[in-house]
Amino acid sequence: MEYQKILEDIYEEIQPFAGMGNQADYIPALAKVNPDQYGIALKTVNGESYSHMQADTRFSIQSISKVFALAMGLSLKGEDLWKIVGKEPSGTAFNSLVQLEVEKGKPRNPFINAGAIVIADMLISELDDPDAAFLNFIRELSGDESIDYNMEVAESEREKGYLNAAIVNMLKYHGTIKNDIEDVLMFYFRMCSVEMSCADLAQAFLAFTNCAPFDYAGFRLTSSQIKRLNAVMQTCGFYDEAGEFSYLVGLPGKSGVGGGIVAVYPMRYSVAVWSPRLNPKGNSIMGMKSLELLTSYTQESIF
Ligand code: GLN
Repeated sequence: MEYQKILEDIYEEIQPFAGMGNQADYIPALAKVNPDQYGIALKTVNGESYSHMQADTRFSIQSISKVFALAMGLSLKGEDLWKIVGKEPSGTAFNSLVQLEVEKGKPRNPFINAGAIVIADMLISELDDPDAAFLNFIRELSGDESIDYNMEVAESEREKGYLNAAIVNMLKYHGTIKNDIEDVLMFYFRMCSVEMSCADLAQAFLAFTNCAPFDYAGFRLTSSQIKRLNAVMQTCGFYDEAGEFSYLVGLPGKSGVGGGIVAVYPMRYSVAVWSPRLNPKGNSIMGMKSLELLTSYTQESIF
């Protein structure tokens, strides 16, 4: 497959979408990001690497971090994890409170904010130094020690994080989380603030293609657990746009409001794309279009 040419062709073809949408400005530090940036990187399980444009520029991974947190949670808790968080698509926005009230504090899935906040709480309870463990895990997955939190982004999100504060309070009320709400919230914001490039993300997500034993920084997953993690990405990775992504792209994936999207073609490759301008559901417009074209041109999807 001529991936390099395909990535370059895709970039040309998505130009009519440049300028559509805006970067996430509800997080003040992200409002300062130049919205007109784009990068894409694809890495195969055979060690081939393809990229185009700003594939090495680091950006805020935001909700893509929820996949790393879920992997750690599954490794620590196994099937018991599903006692504190569900695995059904929510059909609502990533920061919605609606179901949380009706369903008495058990979040629908690990990829909406409520679900990731519950996993953050569990990681605080289980790990001696959750900040270091989370970073070590990502550094090992991507093979790059320089990956780090961006504290300015984390603090800035805390400043305006009214909805997430409401979510953590409702979870605490229902007894779903054990630790101090401020500690949980700040750990969640730090996880979201991690900065990685498309190349870093594609490398890290190769581990989720499920073609080699998974053992990173002491966190192990069986191949059956990786399969299930991909299933949750497929059904819940894009919140109330999970059906649309599945329909257009046909790969398990995860987005973040920093404009990044990662997708996995099991046993074959992982691909990461980034462009900060988002659609109203919080997903990158050029990112989604790129992956739709990638699986259309290559005819490679899980379906
Ligand atoms: N940190 C962001 C938030 O909590 C993550 C949301 C996202 O990337 N979809 O709002």
